[in-house]
Amino acid sequence: MLGRQDWTGTTHMFIDTRQVNDGRALVVTVCIIGGGVAGLTIARELEAHGIDTCVLESGGFEPDDATRDLCRGDATGMAYEFADGCRARFLGGSSNCWGGWSRPLDPWDFERRDWVPHSGWPFGLAHLMPYYERAHSVLRLGPLNFDPGFWEQSIGRRDVRRIPMASGRVRDTVSQFSPPVRFGRHYRKELQRASHVRLFLHANVTALLSDRACTRISQARVQTLEGKSMTVAARVFILATGGIENARLLLASNQQMACGIGNRHDLVGRYFMDHPRMQAGRVRFAPGWTRNKLYDIKYNYQSRAVKAHGQHVAAQFALTPKRWPANVYSMRAFASVPNFRARAVRVHVRCFAASRRCCTRTSRAGAGAKKQARCCATRSTPFCMVSRACSIRAS
Ligand SMILES: Cc1cc2nc3c(=O)[nH]c(=O)nc-3n(C[C@H](O)[C@H](O)[C@H](O)COP(=O)(O)OP(=O)(O)OC[C@H]3O[C@@H](n4cnc5c(N)ncnc54)[C@H](O)[C@@H]3O)c2cc1C
Repeated sequence: MLGRQDWTGTTHMFIDTRQVNDGRALVVTVCIIGGGVAGLTIARELEAHGIDTCVLESGGFEPDDATRDLCRGDATGMAYEFADGCRARFLGGSSNCWGGWSRPLDPWDFERRDWVPHSGWPFGLAHLMPYYERAHSVLRLGPLNFDPGFWEQSIGRRDVRRIPMASGRVRDTVSQFSPPVRFGRHYRKELQRASHVRLFLHANVTALLSDRACTRISQARVQTLEGKSMTVAARVFILATGGIENARLLLASNQQMACGIGNRHDLVGRYFMDHPRMQAGRVRFAPGWTRNKLYDIKYNYQSRAVKAHGQHVAAQFALTPKRWPANVYSMRAFASVPNFRARAVRVHVRCFAASRRCCTRTSRAGAGAKKQARCCATRSTPFCMVSRACSIRAS
């Protein structure tokens, strides 16, 4: 283990790399690159196990424009504004701006689906369950239970009710809300007391140096915006700079191989995923269901009405995993193609329309659809879907 007193000349676990003499070399057992959600979580684990670790974080305690500019870049392919607007580049990473929505993956997320190219994982949900339990404690979530019925019963209020969805094609799911935990702030004191972890701020990793065969990383090259440099040698390197920057760092580390580290198969940076959003229509609730808070996201952060076991929750509508054709069609559209906006809207409508218990009618104008919606939202049918192209009743 590195002593607290070495060339960094400090007993402090947070070190400002701008104050470190130029050209210094550090040797540690584990080097974590990135002090966001993943990086700080692993650092806390390694501290608990007494493993000599350093974290290299690009930003400081607070956001600054010059560091954020390092996120800029050009997107090719589908139009996507990934550059600096959708991430936070300072201690705590994107937990500084995340919303706290939390729920585990669904079992079918791991399955091979013949309509999703390259799908299927070598393990299933059960493999992750023990880790979810621990993640709940890290994120300060409630019981590991995402059954909407459990939450409806625990909350026990007339204005927090599940909507019956008898068709089986649409279901409801529950999310829990982290307070939300901002990792940089929330775990700062704990990390300050660490004996085995040192955290370098304003430390931008610009390249990973590997052996000739590109099979083993030996060093990370660090630079500050003021032009100082530092190297870190470690037995183990952990890349935790987020989905975009991990790929960028591996591709930029092309001293030994022009294609970058780990990129022999040209896969690094591929399969990028985000959550596309579009308004496919509006849901109109029937009288008696309109003041239902369970599905109303504006209540979740503040209202005790949607809280049980010390935990705020919210329910959403989702498609069931059944492989009925329209469902498959919709998921495929979300999963792949360029120009997803237009296609997904069209698809969404078709997908809902395929529900046998829906009354579907095409109408050209929004006004017509609204009128139709008014007719079909009754006490016996809790909600109906109104979209530009059609209106649908589901129960
Ligand atoms: C606006 C917004 C809302 C979100 N809401 C939710 C939500 O409600 N629920 C949910 O589950 N997820 C949400 N997310 C996603 C969630 O925040 C991320 O999935 C999560 O933060 C990823 O963790 P990470 O450790 O991989 O990366 P980050 O948390 O982004 O951490 C990466 C760290 O690496 C540092 N870094 C980057 N490059 C370098 C480099 N070259 N050298 C050194 N350090 C570097 C960065 O400064 C950063 O601190 C949201 C994200 C955003 C942006």
